[in-house]
Amino acid sequence: MDKALDVDAYAARWETAHPRDILAEVAGWGGHWTLAMSFQREDTVILHWATMVGLSFDVFWLDTDLLFSETYAFYETVQSRYPVLWRRIRPALSLTDQAAQYGEALWQRDPHSCCFRRKVEPLFEALAGYDGWITGIRREQSPTRAQAPIISWDDRHGLYKLNPLATWTTGQVQAVTEDEGIPVHPLHSQGYPSLGCAPCTRPTRPGESLRAGRWEGWDKFECGIHQ
Ligand code: SF4
Repeated sequence: MDKALDVDAYAARWETAHPRDILAEVAGWGGHWTLAMSFQREDTVILHWATMVGLSFDVFWLDTDLLFSETYAFYETVQSRYPVLWRRIRPALSLTDQAAQYGEALWQRDPHSCCFRRKVEPLFEALAGYDGWITGIRREQSPTRAQAPIISWDDRHGLYKLNPLATWTTGQVQAVTEDEGIPVHPLHSQGYPSLGCAPCTRPTRPGESLRAGRWEGWDKFECGIHQ
């Protein structure tokens, strides 16, 4: 696949394009793509459309060993409905080994270090050898994502990064799941607009931002996999 695409030109042209059409155009490029699955509404929408348009892709999920029990159950639901290749990426350290080296419940004392070991480092394994990765991040989700382009070159991992829903609102994504019967993680309807690890995620209160329930009490807004 061409490694010298003019991503800025594509990003500008796709500002007003439908995400499904973006995925269809990318499918025409060939190459081997991988979808980052955090089991949120955005990810299952992309999974649904990527399957429809014939994109050559697989799915990976970063299993930190600390996801909600509902997330592990939801994985079983979606992987049986979408029979693409699913890759479960694990951290180098088990929770027991992490506790032995860095102390118990590292996420309570140093979530930056915990995320680095359980998400950021494993992402390198997840993306090695691919032409591009696809994520569900949207500009509306947080100030840290407000400038996210629809496509860019990911220097850190050496592949394209596609954010086909970058311009979409929560309402648009929600409507698509209802209109097209796409599976939705059960915790979304229980006050969790954003889903992460169980120890670091709480439901949001009325008026709070979409990611306010993540890492409460810490000056931390991202796990580190999105730069
Ligand atoms: S979200 Fe919390 S538990 Fe999960 S890897 Fe980051 S700090 Fe650790």
